[in-house]
Amino acid sequence: MPLNEFSLIERFFANHSQRNDLVLGIGDDAAIVEVPKDHQLVISSDTLVEGVHFLPNIPPRALGHKALAVNLSDLAAMGAEPRWATLSISLPSLDEQWLAEFSAGLFELAEFFNVALIGGDTTRGPLSITITIHGVIPKDKALLRSSAMPGDWLYVTGSIGGSNLALQSLLDEDFAHEYQQHFNKDQQQAHLDKHYFPQPRVLAGYGLRGVANAVIDISDGLYGDLRHILKASDCDAKLWLEKLPVVEGLEQFLGREQALKMALCGGEDYELCFTVPEANKGSLDIALSYSGVNHQCVGQLSRGDGQIELLEHGQAKAIELPISWDHFTTSA
Ligand code: ADP
Ligand code: MG
Repeated sequence: MPLNEFSLIERFFANHSQRNDLVLGIGDDAAIVEVPKDHQLVISSDTLVEGVHFLPNIPPRALGHKALAVNLSDLAAMGAEPRWATLSISLPSLDEQWLAEFSAGLFELAEFFNVALIGGDTTRGPLSITITIHGVIPKDKALLRSSAMPGDWLYVTGSIGGSNLALQSLLDEDFAHEYQQHFNKDQQQAHLDKHYFPQPRVLAGYGLRGVANAVIDISDGLYGDLRHILKASDCDAKLWLEKLPVVEGLEQFLGREQALKMALCGGEDYELCFTVPEANKGSLDIALSYSGVNHQCVGQLSRGDGQIELLEHGQAKAIELPISWDHFTTSA
């Protein structure tokens, strides 16, 4: 029987998800969930549009993963526990192979974090995916952008620059040629995985509850996303360039300045940037020990109005940096 909207939902999206707090999942007019006592709901939504957020030839499994990962990353940045997701998808055609791979990528990640797909919407149109993630957090424990304090130490998880490096190699043939000469196959695969299969730092987010003052996820580049924390918290930051966890080999490949630009402004790393008061610095290693990701102190905050001062071994360093990706000021 040919696929229609309902058999498509049934086949690729329904019947995957079970949670004890899921009262009613896919199939009715709306889903019902049970929110635990003394917790707050934390909700975030992200849209991925073909040609804007991903290239037309992205492997569908990667797209399924990434659409959920970017949402999980937002909850990670709140310290929240993700529980339920909805998926609104607009598809140009019903391609069964494509849908099977997309849903496999989505559910692999959903199952890892025990997130249930509880509903959504399916329409025909240009390829676009919106996921809304719902999570919970004990009352008033969420990690905000606005609660950094002067004197806080500034940290980043993982490494930065790898995702954008992979993206440039997908976009530009000449770049790709040089890139393939410089990085070995394993390194290239690691960059591609970072771009296609970002690992949201959900466990690090849990660890940072009660330890970090402010947290943001780095979707648009450290330089731009850090500014969101600084502006929201009335702080400035000194950023120690020599401490940045720039992806290995980038500097030798691009030169110091271009490598820093890519690492600071490239975006889509989906790492966490966070601030920690002096009093909690000592507990950070233990707090993040189960998160499976490294962290690195890259600077310090002071009172201010959102300025970032770039320092290299204590000396001011002038680099022209685009703030970050912005859909309405950058020609896409
Ligand atoms: P309605 O017409 O009331 O909007 P739909 O026919 O769109 O309902 O959806 C039927 C059921 O399937 C609902 O439970 C809805 O949440 C779910 N659903 C629709 N599309 C998706 C999707 N892409 N992924 C998961 N659930 C979906
Ligand atoms: Mg509908």
